[in-house]
Amino acid sequence: MEKRRRLALHWKIVIGLVLGVIVGIAIDRLWTGQTWAAIGVNDPRAFMAGRGNETFASGVASEANAEAGFVAGAVRFIVNANTLIGQLFFRSLRFIAVPIVICSLTIGVASLGDLKRLGRIGGKTVGFFVFTTAISIAVGLTIADIASPGERIDPAARAEMTAKYQSNVEASRGRTSEVPSFWQQGLDLVPPNPFQALATAQMLQVIVAAMALGAALTMIPSSKSGPVIAIFDALTDAIVMLVNTIMRLAPIAVFTLVAPAIVIMGLDVLKAVGVYCVVVIVGLATIMLIVYPLVLRLVAGVGFVRFFRALSPAMLTAFSSSSSNATLPVTISCAINRLGVSERIASFACPLGATINMAGTAMYQGVATVFIAQMYGMDLTIGQLAVIVLTATLAGIGTPGIPGAGVVMLVIVLESVGVPPDGIAVILGVDRLLDMCRTVVNVTGDAAAAAVVAKTEGELLSETEVEKRLAEGRLPD
Ligand code: ASP
Repeated sequence: MEKRRRLALHWKIVIGLVLGVIVGIAIDRLWTGQTWAAIGVNDPRAFMAGRGNETFASGVASEANAEAGFVAGAVRFIVNANTLIGQLFFRSLRFIAVPIVICSLTIGVASLGDLKRLGRIGGKTVGFFVFTTAISIAVGLTIADIASPGERIDPAARAEMTAKYQSNVEASRGRTSEVPSFWQQGLDLVPPNPFQALATAQMLQVIVAAMALGAALTMIPSSKSGPVIAIFDALTDAIVMLVNTIMRLAPIAVFTLVAPAIVIMGLDVLKAVGVYCVVVIVGLATIMLIVYPLVLRLVAGVGFVRFFRALSPAMLTAFSSSSSNATLPVTISCAINRLGVSERIASFACPLGATINMAGTAMYQGVATVFIAQMYGMDLTIGQLAVIVLTATLAGIGTPGIPGAGVVMLVIVLESVGVPPDGIAVILGVDRLLDMCRTVVNVTGDAAAAAVVAKTEGELLSETEVEKRLAEGRLPD
């Protein structure tokens, strides 16, 4: 009997994503306060909190829900089960992020052989990140200037959003005071205790520790370093195997993450700031569809379709998780197994990118700054625009690859040009949606850097070689 062709993983994830969007929109539109009342729930927040914990909602038990019956209980069960699956997936990827960096990067550096080469690869990678980030911000500022989204905002909607999200703005402002100074960040590169860096997932410190260990391994006799390298090598393979296993859950997990994100955001909020969202999304799409493909084609000779096909699982995971860090294991695995980047370059460029390359976030911060300035009727000078490019590039580098971090760092960009941070209230409602989109661009940039650097180092397989290896089953797909 002829074997039925299995649907490729990325298509299954796309189906999960589309269903998540449809279900999210349907619930947002159809499930109202009356629906809750009809099933005996008059205080949905308190009811959903139930005996839950912070992950599953917060609130207090309420007398108003005394009538809640079986249907209401079933709804709460489904919502909690949904949250559980999504969070399990998210945690499993985060659980893998630190081990994969320490193992694969140590091996990568140890196998480079000489430190000069490491310096060269590091320089190229960081150069790629800074160059593409600055271009991305310039693209975003140009589109925002042409479309003027801030001038189209309805004053009533602005007042409503400001009242609704003011307390969140205060929270974001408070968190920026936790951002360490430039000098402190330089000092923090070296962890005083590497185990603490591992335990608290300080990615930049983990990268430094792995590089130091890898470099030191090259300096001792191979009779001693050999067994350590072999262990790390086997561990890397085992971890990649774990990633592939976890990714089987991705189609369902993507559904469980995306549907509630839409319900929580609510579509009404889009009406007020729709033009702003369109500007950010067009800017992000320009980077994804023009800037990266151009650089990939010109420098690495990698075509658009090949790159997107190879990276699609990572892009879809980035979209649903809104976290470059959580997506990191998938990015590394796709770069090596599906794109043909050598292990040592992928394990260097991708973690570094997940930590410092936030081209999508920086572009979003640029557009948001122009939007808020326009909303307050402020005209930004060329000098101020240049300051935005500079501070957004730096703020992007300092933004951790976790959900919602970009909006906290946005406060710094706004303050750098004297735009009132209170304006953030107007865009907070749509931040999750834009976070999902910008994280895709951030992750794409990490893999693009890996491909470009690998090509210039002669460490990128051709498409035919990748297909051959996949067909031979030497690499998991
Ligand atoms: N969520 C983004 C990331 O992980 C960062 C941000 O823009 O909030 O790449």
